[in-house]
Formats: sequence, C-alpha cells, structure tokens
Amino acid sequence: MLTVNAIAATSATDPLVRTTVERRDLGPRDVLIEIRYAGICHSDIHTVRGEWGDVPYPLTVGHEIVGTVAEVGAEVSRHATGDRVGVGCMVNSCRTCDNCKAGQEQYCLDGNTGTYASVDRDGTVTQGGYTTHIVVDEDFVLRVPEAIPYEKAAPLLCAGITTYSPLSHWKAGPGTKVAVVGMGGLGHMAVKIAVAMGAEVTVLSQTLGKKDDGLAFGAAHYYATGDPATFEVLKNSFDLIINTVSAPIEMASYLRLLRLDGTLVSVGAPPEPLAVPVFALFGNRRSFAGSSIGGIAETQEMLDFCAERDIAPEVEVIDAEAVNEAYERVMKSDVRYRFVIDVDTLR
Ligand code: NAP
Ligand code: ZN
Ligand code: ZN
Repeated sequence: MLTVNAIAATSATDPLVRTTVERRDLGPRDVLIEIRYAGICHSDIHTVRGEWGDVPYPLTVGHEIVGTVAEVGAEVSRHATGDRVGVGCMVNSCRTCDNCKAGQEQYCLDGNTGTYASVDRDGTVTQGGYTTHIVVDEDFVLRVPEAIPYEKAAPLLCAGITTYSPLSHWKAGPGTKVAVVGMGGLGHMAVKIAVAMGAEVTVLSQTLGKKDDGLAFGAAHYYATGDPATFEVLKNSFDLIINTVSAPIEMASYLRLLRLDGTLVSVGAPPEPLAVPVFALFGNRRSFAGSSIGGIAETQEMLDFCAERDIAPEVEVIDAEAVNEAYERVMKSDVRYRFVIDVDTLR
C-alpha cells in the first residue's frame, strides 16, 4: 500500500483540504502512475457538493489525469516505465457485457467503475486525480502522444472525449451545422473538435464576452443566448446542438433551433431535470439525446486525433492551494477554459 498526498472534500460545504489517500499494491495488470497534472471538471464540483447524490466523504475527485508510468505489474504489456499516460473518468468495467464487448465501456451494463466515488473491485472507494499517484488497470490507461504537452493533455481525458464522442457519433463534418451551447471546459473543446472535423460551428454563450476567443477557436458564428433575438434568427438552423451547460436550460427554445432531423445532445449534467416539451420535438422530427464520456478505444482515437490536428485545450495551471478559488471561478463561468492542477505542488 502506498500513502500519497492528495486534496479531498470532507463535506458538501467545506473547502477541499490537504490529506493523503492510499493506493493499492500493484497487481499483475496494474500500472502505477506518477501524476503530473489533473484537470478540474465541473463534474468534480457537482460531485463534491452532493448535487448528484450521496458522497462517500472524504473524497478525492479528479478524472482528467496525466503523468508518467512509475512502475508496472508483472503481466502488463501495453505500458512501460517512463511512458506518458493518461486516465479519464473510468478505471474498470465488467468487460463481458454487450456494451463492454462493443468497446463502449462507459455504458457497461453493470456500471463502469468511476475514477472516483465508485466501489472498486477490492471493495474500497475509488479516489481520483487530485493526488500524486494512482494505480490503474492497464486496459484503462491511455497513451498520451508526445505532441501534446502534459498540462494540455489532462482536459482531453474528460472534456475532450465527452465532446469528441457525440460529435463523431452524430457525424459532425463538412456540410453540417453544429451549435455548441456554453463555452467552458467542455464547450471550448467541442468548438475546436467540431471545427477540426469540418463542421460549420456556432457558439451559443450567455454573453458576447468570449466572442473573440470563440472565433479564434474556429467558430464561424457567435451569439448571446441572453438576447432573445438569437432564438429568432437561428430558428431551424442546426443539424446538431451540443449542450454543455452545467445548469438547466430552457429546452423548447434550443430545440427549435434544430433543422429537419436535427439532434440536441446534452452532455451537460445539471442535477435538475431538463424539461422537454414534446411539441418542440414534433416540428422538424427533432431528437433529444444524452451522451456520456466515451469508450477506451475512442478516447485513444481522440488523443491521436488531437495530436495530429494540433488541437489542445486552453488551460490555466494552478497550484494545489488554489483549488477552492478555482471552483468559485468555475461556478461564475470565469474559466479560460480549464483549470489544471500542477500536482508537483502537492509533493
Ligand atoms: P464549465 O467549464 O463550468 O462550463 C459550463 C458552461 O456552461 C459555462 O462556461 C457557461 O458558458 C455555461 N453556463 C454555466 N451556467 C450557466 C447557466 N446558469 N445558464 C446558461 N449557461 C450557463 O463546465 P464543464 O466542465 O465544461 O462541464 C459542463 C457540464 O458537463 C457539467 O454539468 C458537467 O458535469 C458535465 N459533464 C458531463 C460529462 C458527460 O459524460 N456527459 C462529462 C463531463 C462533464 P458561457 O459562459 O459560454 O455561457
Ligand atoms: Zn469530467
Ligand atoms: Zn460491461
């Protein structure tokens, strides 16, 4: 057992504090990773604040993890000491259900093992990436291409794959019009990836405050959702809308922006239900869908895609001490565009 420095939440309301977590001894198929950077996802905040349900406190969150392989178990074949690697939102799955066999481990019918707050196979609660080391089964460890700097690779492990997967599944590409709602961590990656796939991208943000950035990321158009005229001008426009907003949105207005057979996919996960008026679906035979992260093979595909296309998130690297302040800034949509913890500041 390895005891390592970490930051943890102890309740829904108290600030995160420094502590330690235990890492299991290396099993034959395990990889010990020395973590370098860990991204801050809004899901970390929903989780520690108890917005998604009961929390097994104390809990260390973080599922955008990159670092270097420090040691491997006897049977590990995919990774070697010194490799640049990453871990995303899940660390195991049943591997035998139809969805796992189809490479869709995120939809494991038995429930995938989350990187944090899940019950691991040894009965302990999984602890995430705001820490110096993690032990993960080799099948759930990704290769981080040399072309992507460590700190920029971290957000790809959740924000990158969560937007890449629906963009790929719903075939964003040349000739398609894609709107991205909310330009935070996920949203800005959705813009960059959809642009790289060849789609015509429109950003729908609360204000025009980040318009220059959105256009620099390759978006063709940028509208403020705070202006009611936006919903008139853009009616019946999009093939695909990716909603990344962490709070409920007024669904009818957004659904009406879809053209014939268009789909609105929510990756945003507010604790409250999203109310869908069916009449907003009837027009243009619209669809409303959800999407959760991506499979392991697809996550590797996304990392390689980003390396080849020179796509990377915009990050603000912070010390471990600044996590609580960073959470407050995320809550105010004051993030450009992902906070990443320099885990060396925890050593
Ligand atoms: P984030 O960085 O906080 O970005 C969310 C963005 O939504 C904000 O930047 C803001 O964009 C907009 N927004 C926030 N509050 C709003 C409100 N009240 N009304 C309208 N717009 C608002 O969060 P994130 O890390 O990208 O995560 C976004 C959501 O995705 C969270 O709910 C998270 O839990 C979820 N998530 C889901 C998955 C999955 O697998 N499905 C994976 C990761 C995260 P503007 O400033 O541009 O308006
Ligand atoms: Zn996440
Ligand atoms: Zn399964």
